[in-house]
Amino acid sequence: MTTAAALGELLMSRSLDDPELQAATDAVPDERVLPDVHVLKIGGQSLLDRGRSAVFPVVEEIVAALPRYRLLIGTGGGTRARHAYALAAELGLPTGVLSDIGSAVAGQNATMLGHLFAKYGVPVVGGEAMAALPLRVAEVGAAIFAGMPPYDMWQRVPAEGVIPPYRTDAGCYLVAETYGCASMTFVKDEDGLYTANPKTDPSATLIPEITVDELIARDLPDLAVERPVFDLMRNARFVKKIQIVNGLKPGLVTRALAGEHVGTIITAEG
Ligand code: ADP
Ligand code: MG
Repeated sequence: MTTAAALGELLMSRSLDDPELQAATDAVPDERVLPDVHVLKIGGQSLLDRGRSAVFPVVEEIVAALPRYRLLIGTGGGTRARHAYALAAELGLPTGVLSDIGSAVAGQNATMLGHLFAKYGVPVVGGEAMAALPLRVAEVGAAIFAGMPPYDMWQRVPAEGVIPPYRTDAGCYLVAETYGCASMTFVKDEDGLYTANPKTDPSATLIPEITVDELIARDLPDLAVERPVFDLMRNARFVKKIQIVNGLKPGLVTRALAGEHVGTIITAEG
């Protein structure tokens, strides 16, 4: 029997959770949808909330990179999202509601960034229009999107508390992984991942490179990227490497796009 016929028969006759069926869906090579696109996540609190002194140089760097790279630019939420989470949590509202609120704030940041990029023809793509994203990228080489995944009220409920676990880091990562993109770079305000939060622990040291398994084993108290990203990376087909870079240091975004190791590289295998 051909693979297609075998898969068809399994799909018709078995539970979709059946291990043999699941293995059969893995029997064909994976297809990258947008293989030459690089995804950048522009931090909310770490970058956008710092205003023009932080944002304009990054915008300039991205504009300079446009002729050479196809880019998807996702936005974080940041301080306004945290404020809204605090209000909603204190009101006793559920994770799904907080997820909606977080999406709105990441959307505001995408709107602002979109207007800064407007004169270069780079559009904001969101919601339903996400389907037109490949077209936008083909036309102008880049598009901006709100980083929050659109789980809204269907957001996964965390084991503890009500903060949505899949926020803008996870959302941007999933865009990169789903489209089989060339790279995923998190643009934040520190040189990479440290042994502890460098803002509160002066003894923290930079970790230039680490695997997801090592990272999970080390169980660091505080991380620069949302934890679910590491679970997602464990099952990755395409994006098995992410880099966290300091967007406050000129040139690092450009060098990261060129494949240089200029921050912390986290790999899913190794
Ligand atoms: P974003 O703006 O993309 O949402 P966050 O503010 O959520 O980014 O995460 C970046 C911040 O995480 C950094 O500014 C840093 O203060 C903090 N942080 C916490 N733990 C670490 C760590 N182990 N290494 C580096 N940064 C850390
Ligand atoms: Mg964050």
